[in-house]
Amino acid sequence: MESTVASKLEALSKLQSIDSQLDEIKRVRGDLPEEVQDLEDEIEGYEVRVRKFDDEVAGLNDSIAQRKQAIKDSENLIRKYEEQQQNVRNNREYDAITKEVELQKLEIQISEKKIKEAHFQIEQKISEIEDTKHRLEERRKDLENKQKELEQIVAESQEEEKKLEDDRQSAASGVEDRLLSAYNRIRKNVRNGLAVVSVKRDACGGCFNTVPPQRQADIAAQKKIIVCEHCGRILAGVELRVF
Ligand SMILES: [Zn+2]
Repeated sequence: MESTVASKLEALSKLQSIDSQLDEIKRVRGDLPEEVQDLEDEIEGYEVRVRKFDDEVAGLNDSIAQRKQAIKDSENLIRKYEEQQQNVRNNREYDAITKEVELQKLEIQISEKKIKEAHFQIEQKISEIEDTKHRLEERRKDLENKQKELEQIVAESQEEEKKLEDDRQSAASGVEDRLLSAYNRIRKNVRNGLAVVSVKRDACGGCFNTVPPQRQADIAAQKKIIVCEHCGRILAGVELRVF
């Protein structure tokens, strides 16, 4: 059996009333869910940065260890050359070995310079890590507080919200698909979430533009679904003037 326009409008009005109550619950929660999400993202960014710093410091420590080994190798070579120098047969051999020794001494100097630079870089990185860890700690505290706040607000309205969600589902199932998607579309496009309104004091209850008398009569007759010509909201009825 086809449902009448009146029953369609009644179902839509019921859906609207439930959605308005759900909107109010979300309004009370405000920006908290978004703030919690933002903090979680920020914390993750800091954690990635700390891990990257740790990797970089490990890399610098590796290069220091390699340079230290290179210095030991050069020192061993120098000792070996100096022993050889005791047994040279002529000046040419002596000079050649002297050159080799000087070359190794130069290598040692370069390594010492690189080690010093690496230590300096490590110091800088460590102070950066400390800063980041400090900020991370602060943000974690912020997050903890915000989460508690949100949990409390959610807990207060959870039962009511659950009931409304259930009610919404059964109310929505009573509205035909085409009408439901129109309703959802209007709700998404209007500021106050009202897709279904009444005519009050000769005006649309959503945008407050005047609704002409003939149109009000059509709305009251409930022969077809009529939308506001200014805002597109569904006009479900005409509220009688109270004098
Ligand atoms: Zn309107």
